[in-house]
Amino acid sequence: MQLFKEKKALRDFLSAEKTSHKTIGFVPTMGALHEGHLSLIEFAQTTCEVVVVSIFVNPTQFNNKEDLEKYPRTLDNDIKLIEEKFSRGIVIFAPNAQEIYGKEILSSHFDFGSVATFMEGKYRDGHFDGVGTVVKKLFEVVEPDKAFFGEKDYQQLLIIKKLVELTKLPVDVIGCKINREENGLARSSRNSLLSIEDKAESAFIYKSLQEAKNNFGIKSVKDIEKDIKFAFEKHPLLRLEYFEIANAQTLESFSESKQEEKYRAFIAAYAKNVRLIDNIALN
Ligand code: AMP
Repeated sequence: MQLFKEKKALRDFLSAEKTSHKTIGFVPTMGALHEGHLSLIEFAQTTCEVVVVSIFVNPTQFNNKEDLEKYPRTLDNDIKLIEEKFSRGIVIFAPNAQEIYGKEILSSHFDFGSVATFMEGKYRDGHFDGVGTVVKKLFEVVEPDKAFFGEKDYQQLLIIKKLVELTKLPVDVIGCKINREENGLARSSRNSLLSIEDKAESAFIYKSLQEAKNNFGIKSVKDIEKDIKFAFEKHPLLRLEYFEIANAQTLESFSESKQEEKYRAFIAAYAKNVRLIDNIALN
């Protein structure tokens, strides 16, 4: 494992690797690594000789100061986890904010189109501009052949594909499946902020998604949405922010599903003040 905190040192290292025609994979993260992140790295290693893992809590994608402040930061443990699991081929890039942004920490604006207007775009003002800003900067430093993103943040995955289209950066964006805890809860760095009891209760999010999947094609989308919203209203811990069933490509809602289209269900919910998101393919 190699650790870099500066862009120049990382670039120098990678340019030597590129001269020997090694395929460079990239897994951007905000750290507090868990099995979900490790599954992305493992998958990246199946096709890339060098895998760069960035660990950077990106301030511009947080619309809530308290959320940014309480976001877990565990670099020493992240390094340990990677060293324990991977014997070769991993490069960690852990810059500070100044190294990425310079003196002024600001977002650029991107025209991601309508995919950015729903769900996370609607409830987290400026979030996707922040994500686009940091990922573009990181892509320009790493210049990966392939970049791996989890379907856990499904809307973000669509946004990154759009970013690559807009910027014409030559990187292949690959979506990876959601890694879950034993009770079904999608793994997330934020889960470490939950008590054991609240984690157990939060499995209700995945159960609701499964229920939506089981009823898709049987009940109307409206009825499925109504039932799930009602179930959350009665839940002792979770406060639903949104439940949506949408076209998997456009994220638009619809009244009648078509055989040839793919659909997904999406949830954002709070367990006390911890915000959790998850989604599922319906067909
Ligand atoms: P984060 O550190 O939360 O920004 O996540 C970094 C990357 O890991 C993103 O592409 C996420 O979608 C992905 N990721 C996070 N949690 C999971 C999970 N449970 N399963 C699969 N991918 C994940």
